[in-house]
Amino acid sequence: MPAPKDLGLELIGVPQGAELDLQLRMESVSEGVLVSGTVTGPLVGECGRCLRPISDTLDVPLQEFYAYEHSTTDETTDEDEVGRLQGDLIDLEPALRDAVVLSLTANPVCREDCLGLCPDCGVPLDELPAGHTHEQIDPRWAALSQIKTSEE
Ligand SMILES: [Zn+2]
Ligand SMILES: [Zn+2]
Repeated sequence: MPAPKDLGLELIGVPQGAELDLQLRMESVSEGVLVSGTVTGPLVGECGRCLRPISDTLDVPLQEFYAYEHSTTDETTDEDEVGRLQGDLIDLEPALRDAVVLSLTANPVCREDCLGLCPDCGVPLDELPAGHTHEQIDPRWAALSQIKTSEE
């Protein structure tokens, strides 16, 4: 199924319309239907430290119980706690959203040891020579930073 809008967090998520693969099993139990399986799909985001794009794969387990209308569960629980079957239909989206959001980190990184950006020039530190510093600006860099400033 195509991914719904805003499936994810601010910095990482499944792009809207991306193909989600749902491998689900439905089991009839006395009070309703138990849906369980896994959801996989593409993830895109931005590194929280260096802002470089990240692409990853989503692979999360999903398990949700949907109660039959007029079952005891239906009458004794809130719809927020336990999903309901709507006729023969199941609205998977809330469960899908919960599973995906829970599996994501609010602060994704491109790799564990990402050093982030130089606070002075905004260039990723791992693309700069070791010992990079702004204490003595090379005249060529000074010229470059002026060009950058005038563009802004
Ligand atoms: Zn990074
Ligand atoms: Zn710098």
